[in-house]
Amino acid sequence: MSENGSLPVRVRFAPSPTGPFHIGSARTALFNWLFARHHGGTFILRIEDTDRKRFDPDAMPLLLDGLRWLGLEWDEGPEVGGEYGPYFQSERSALYQEWAEWLVEHDLAYRCYCTEERLAEVRERQKAARQDPGYDRHCRTLAPEERARLHAERGGEHVIRFKMPLEGTTTVHDILRDDITFDNRRLQDLVLLKSDGLPTYHLANVVDDHFMAISHILRAEEWISSAPVHKNLYAAFGWEMPQIAHLPVILNPSGKGKLSKRSAGFTEGGRKVPVLLHEFQEAGYVPEAIVNFLTNVGWSFGDDREVFTVEETIARFDLKRVNPAGSVFPVEKLDWLNGVYLRDMAPERLAALLQPVFERAGYRAELDRLTQVVPLIQVRIKTLNDALDMAGFLFTEQFVPAPPEQLVPKKMDAAATRAALERALEMLEGLPDWRAETQEAAMRALVEEMGLKAGQLFGALRVATTAQAVSPPLFESMEVLGREASLARIRLAIDSLA
Ligand code: GLU
Repeated sequence: MSENGSLPVRVRFAPSPTGPFHIGSARTALFNWLFARHHGGTFILRIEDTDRKRFDPDAMPLLLDGLRWLGLEWDEGPEVGGEYGPYFQSERSALYQEWAEWLVEHDLAYRCYCTEERLAEVRERQKAARQDPGYDRHCRTLAPEERARLHAERGGEHVIRFKMPLEGTTTVHDILRDDITFDNRRLQDLVLLKSDGLPTYHLANVVDDHFMAISHILRAEEWISSAPVHKNLYAAFGWEMPQIAHLPVILNPSGKGKLSKRSAGFTEGGRKVPVLLHEFQEAGYVPEAIVNFLTNVGWSFGDDREVFTVEETIARFDLKRVNPAGSVFPVEKLDWLNGVYLRDMAPERLAALLQPVFERAGYRAELDRLTQVVPLIQVRIKTLNDALDMAGFLFTEQFVPAPPEQLVPKKMDAAATRAALERALEMLEGLPDWRAETQEAAMRALVEEMGLKAGQLFGALRVATTAQAVSPPLFESMEVLGREASLARIRLAIDSLA
């Protein structure tokens, strides 16, 4: 049920496939999906691909994979079908032509024969006179003979323009922003159908929302200026306009300016801020954290809670808690949030998620070994990629030892380090088993025996076996690494200190 009536809720996410899937678009998709799921309605994916010049063939797979990765399954649309298809606007041209012609027949739109050159002249004239740019409505009032003459002269080539009301105001009711009133004198006679017979955004969007029985339009704030155009189109057709909400723009983490495609890669406090969904995937974030994170951009769960499941969000989602003011992209929260999800995840799932990450980085990562490693790193990583730095040493086939000077602990020299490692090797070689506890007991005894600090010996062993200064707990790591490999690495270290 809709919020104010008995129409079934049908919402659409209507991206144009002109580039990679931007995180702001993902937020729009998410809010539509949450709204549909909350109301037991239908979530529709419609591809607004009428701008053939800007069409990017890579966009579709990124979009479909991205939506599925986030768990935003669509009920109607590409690959799943539905009763209101086709769901690609490029396959619906006949419908747009029919309704553009209908408007012309009813004197609500007109054929415009103006050439590019004439339009350029008009622009120049307006610029010189410091007037607002826009079409001067030359063809709106042509006498029939003149119209016929131009039609013949241009070989029938024309566009169809909408007859915008010339006076008065247009008021659009926005669910989040109440009434927004526009001065009709500032509205243009926009092109609805281009000379190639393809529709512009406005015509296709309105015709499709009507014929797909869309109940609510939830779209980004940047479309507000289109709302009065659409409202007048609905009025011309005599159709009821869906309810509409313009979702708040997402601002850069600094709060200055919109998070746009151009923000990609800009650094915030020295780190790269991803803005494209596939960049978040590649950076090692998990979808449930991204969904939770995006839910917090412009909406609040309440009760001061920042972590919640998608089921909890569906149960609670309403538009009343969307804040129409622009929301800053709190990217610094994302690492923390992702860490929370990784920590609470079933270890088998984490191992499965880590496998492709390790493989992409060139490691041979068997699931068995990853499953052993997960308990050592699960609470220590914030992204999947952190696991590479943390545990890569367990998977390298060609171990590259750390430079010898890194082996030498504070207040020790190379000779003393070598002596300590030689003694450690001897004791470790003689251990009855390779469990972490057994190793640790022996090494603590050695610390006593040699009058060292635990940190000194353990530090040298850590660098020797992992070639890293930071690693998961030392003896657990050596247990997973295995006796043979651990001892071999310690021997290498000893040799390097010679
Ligand atoms: N195709 C538009 C876009 O790319 C759709 C805007 C709307 O939802 O009306 O965002």
